[in-house]
Amino acid sequence: MKKKRRIWFCGGIEQAAADPDLLARLRDEIGLTTIMPESPICHTSGFATSDELAKRGPFEDWRSRADLYPRIAEGIYPPVAGIISGFDDTPLKKLIESAQKTGIEIWGHIGLWSYGGDVYPEYAMRDIEGEPLDMRYKQWGIGLCPSRKEINDWTRDGLIDAVQRYALDGFCVDHARYAAPANVHGLYACGCAHCQRAGAALGYDVARLYDGLRHFRQSLKTLDRRQISRMIDHQPNLWDFLSLCEGGAELLEWFRMRAGLLAARMAEFRNAINEATGTKPFGSDVFPPAVALLGGHDYTTWQQGADYLTGGSSFGGVVGWATMVTNLAGEWAPALCRTIDELQENEALALVYRLFGYEDFDLPLTLAGLQEAQLPLPEIFAREVGKLKAVADPNIGLYPPLSVSAAPDIVQALCEAVVDNECDGAMLSFGATEEAIENVLQLDLAQWLDS
Ligand SMILES: [Zn+2]
Repeated sequence: MKKKRRIWFCGGIEQAAADPDLLARLRDEIGLTTIMPESPICHTSGFATSDELAKRGPFEDWRSRADLYPRIAEGIYPPVAGIISGFDDTPLKKLIESAQKTGIEIWGHIGLWSYGGDVYPEYAMRDIEGEPLDMRYKQWGIGLCPSRKEINDWTRDGLIDAVQRYALDGFCVDHARYAAPANVHGLYACGCAHCQRAGAALGYDVARLYDGLRHFRQSLKTLDRRQISRMIDHQPNLWDFLSLCEGGAELLEWFRMRAGLLAARMAEFRNAINEATGTKPFGSDVFPPAVALLGGHDYTTWQQGADYLTGGSSFGGVVGWATMVTNLAGEWAPALCRTIDELQENEALALVYRLFGYEDFDLPLTLAGLQEAQLPLPEIFAREVGKLKAVADPNIGLYPPLSVSAAPDIVQALCEAVVDNECDGAMLSFGATEEAIENVLQLDLAQWLDS
């Protein structure tokens, strides 16, 4: 199952399908092996779906919810789980034909749980008190509950329909996670009754964990600035910090439970696909190692339902590997200052960097600086890729995310991190416009990734 791959995370299905020579050029010039199309309109690979599945679809009324997701007015589907009906799959079929002729694998793509809770509040994640998530953190994702059987069963059947309908060689699911950990409130979700039952089914004492979480939140408020600054002087790690508060052990166990719960759903999806059409590589993008567990990814457990690990982008956005901890710091530091009396912004930022092993990157100690500063992206990316290699099972494919539209010197440095850590290839993201393709072809990508 583990194979060398250079995968194109392709957001322009129509453009890629319209140029019959494109895939051959990418194969010959950058060693492309695989294409993973994703439509920015419907957020899947551009799949159509059966009438029977549409009838059972929980999100078929999406057009009536433009008040909750304004882009609906432009015809953009809300990012939710599964495959919504009504999308024209002609460009996808053309692209599949062209990939088959060129000997390029084609991987399917759908979304799962980490968005859409704001558009479908009836299916949204709730915190452990049953409250909806704070919209203050909306940019990091307001997700759907991952334990709603009607959604997961329908999503699974949609995956089976897609692998039977199209000649796909594998699958990469997106949003197979909780909110990005910058969403402070999202760390305490999903705590709904469905998730309580799912956690108990995995053998967790859910009531004890919830008590622990309540103690932890309470205990955080009793810390004082002196304790924090004393701690910062002695190189604390995340574990030291959790141990300062009551309930820290339960908080860690809660994160493990959340990760186990998502991994179990992933395993169901993978098994359903394998039963329907034989074994195909199945997996998802994951959060980078420093924060993975906080977003629902325990790499060891994840292997129950994934054949490889990849990521959404090298940096930037919600899932960028090199900007994950700084984005998190930008939300956690003010939250800590609101919670702990007299704690200063610079102290809170220094603490967060230390907790994630980032203190040596010399990162800005003000929130304003964090917005404006040029961060050492290649160095941070290299550390995360190095950790990935160090912690992942040697039998699982590793395809770190390579944002190849960045400046050439940055792209070269990102490639070096992938090569130095002996990964199995990369997930390359770049546009499908003529200009974007020409820019990518002008890079020495093949050389940078072969060296
Ligand atoms: Zn739930």
